[in-house]
Amino acid sequence: RETRKMTATAKQPKSTIALTHPDRIYWPDTGVTKEGLADYYTEVWPRIQPFVTDRPLALLRGPSGIDGQLFFQKHAWKGLNAHIELVKDPKDKAGEPLISIKDLDGLIALVQSAVLEIHPWGSTLANWERPDMIIMDLDPGPDVAWQRVIDAALETRDRLKQAGLASFVKTSGGKGLHVVAPLEPKTPWPTVKAFTKAIADAMASDDPDRYVATVTKSKRQGKILIDYLRNQRGATAVAPYSTRARSGAPVSMPLAWNELDLSIGPAYFTVGNAVTRLDALASDPWKDFRKAARPLPSVKPGGKVR
Ligand code: ATP
Ligand code: MN
Ligand code: MN
Repeated sequence: RETRKMTATAKQPKSTIALTHPDRIYWPDTGVTKEGLADYYTEVWPRIQPFVTDRPLALLRGPSGIDGQLFFQKHAWKGLNAHIELVKDPKDKAGEPLISIKDLDGLIALVQSAVLEIHPWGSTLANWERPDMIIMDLDPGPDVAWQRVIDAALETRDRLKQAGLASFVKTSGGKGLHVVAPLEPKTPWPTVKAFTKAIADAMASDDPDRYVATVTKSKRQGKILIDYLRNQRGATAVAPYSTRARSGAPVSMPLAWNELDLSIGPAYFTVGNAVTRLDALASDPWKDFRKAARPLPSVKPGGKVR
């Protein structure tokens, strides 16, 4: 009976991949199985597609589920499914091939291969050297109130906006938030990295009690790391809508800016509630993501905005 609103699920394609052991449990605490994971990705396919296809991928695999051994893999493995593509890094022709997918069959082939997290590059196979997004990864240290993380995301948005870039926010599915700015892929990695470092450095020097821009663990107590290091060649960050190999089967969920609220923590959205959320939303909060892309501004981002 089709009484459900079909937002996330409109014009849903089907995968041709047959799952072996569909009842294998990947998240024992919530009972999410391999088949449940495949169903989730099929539901969100139209939304996740631009973020996971035609890019190099790093993958977190867990053949025995989240409580078993996990493997973070940037390279192809033995017996790779035919729907998973091998790609050669143009700057590392002698190196082992990297992994990519083209379509829903590729995504479901990842599920069949026990992929529990998908971490794409910020550039595509069509333009390896020029990222098409910036990702500011906000990592709260111990004892940071969630409102502070929300404030950090809003401040990051304001600084990007001041520099001429629109940005979008998502939960990480872990401990923090990611602020993501779409780019026209015109500027090479080192320049994009310098731009994001300038934002992180400005935040840390304007508000040293709240923010740090360097990864030193000891300095992070009570502060938020503005982790700009996702923005370099070969770095990856978890994809929007990707599941996380953590308890509760959380997902990295795109939000509207006005949804940022104490009631939505970093792992609030899960395989269990994501599709209900997407079906209930009037429109996709990241609908204009690609449309909002601009070239990286040539001016260095500057001081405090608010
Ligand atoms: P959180 O909100 O908890 O910080 P996150 O996704 O921002 O979640 P991590 O899961 O800690 O952060 O990952 C940090 C980065 O390191 C990711 O962008 C990812 O691509 C990469 N990464 C994740 N797991 C591994 C791993 N096992 N080995 C190497 N790199 C990893
Ligand atoms: Mn993080
Ligand atoms: Mn980080």
